[in-house]
Amino acid sequence: AGLDEADEAVRGTCEDASVCKRFAVSVGYWKDPYIQYFVRQAKERKAPEINRGYYARVHGVSYLIKAFLKKTDCNCQIVNLGAGMDTLFWRLKDENLLPRKYFEVDFPMIVARKIHNIKSKPPLSKPIMESHSGDSLLIDSHSLDSSRYSIVGADLRFSSDLEEKLKKHNLDIHLPTLLVAECVLVYMTPQQSANLLKWAASTFPVAMFINYEQVNMTDRFGQIMIENLQRRQCNLAGVEICRSLDSQRERLLLNGWETARAIDMMKVYSFLPQADVKRSCEHNILIYLLEGTHEPRSHSNCLLLETRSQK
Ligand code: SAM
Repeated sequence: AGLDEADEAVRGTCEDASVCKRFAVSVGYWKDPYIQYFVRQAKERKAPEINRGYYARVHGVSYLIKAFLKKTDCNCQIVNLGAGMDTLFWRLKDENLLPRKYFEVDFPMIVARKIHNIKSKPPLSKPIMESHSGDSLLIDSHSLDSSRYSIVGADLRFSSDLEEKLKKHNLDIHLPTLLVAECVLVYMTPQQSANLLKWAASTFPVAMFINYEQVNMTDRFGQIMIENLQRRQCNLAGVEICRSLDSQRERLLLNGWETARAIDMMKVYSFLPQADVKRSCEHNILIYLLEGTHEPRSHSNCLLLETRSQK
């Protein structure tokens, strides 16, 4: 695929994430009243494994983000890299946990879509207005800058352009800064993601980086996922970095970060609220039982199981 086509396929992954999140939210895995405003597609049922995976991912990432906010008393900034249609800004505002400023970065085309949604949906625009003070709210089709929330259209592979745009929106490199990349680095070459990590490590004197990404995609599910993305011409340029937790840690340590820790999602899953996990385990057993009866595992089977797991 040409560069543009490959980038277009990468941009499409943002739709995948929001569709899956919305479905999991609609069947009660976690609460997010905002995701519905960002999804165009009709409600599409997802397999329980996918819902559980997203649940653990959203829970794990927000757990770490909240720990950073508490540690800094919210006197910090968050930079969400490749944020797509993420709704964290709104959820943090509802919980009274906004940092001094929350930045999002994505390709200009994705940013334009997000801004369009914000402009046309009052439940999205109102919280931004409410948290805004002063008179400098800037909003055009490719960027939005308010006092607490800002979206920047930029390509993460070009860090000097990225930095310039963020600084125009009053990024303060001296504030403790939390950078978040959720399923983003895998779409860049190892060289490009190394540059981004190096830029972040050398730009912010006090910072933490949360990276959520696939590792060890050699199992059956990993292979299915890779094939699926490749069929759509999506370039998984960074997949070779994702061999193991060690290679993830090493990448951070080699690019200017002092310490790095990595845990796999099975462990995260075991730390999740036990009532939820128990519920989904029952769920799992039910699925296997059903599979054991050799009935085809159709969507309606999943529907039944989803509903039972909610009781
Ligand atoms: N972080 C969001 C989430 O977890 O819901 C979206 C994840 S989606 C799988 C990957 C996102 O990264 C897409 O929105 C895509 O446009 C963005 N992205 C990937 N490469 C990028 C680049 N070079 N510059 C800017 N954004 C990029």
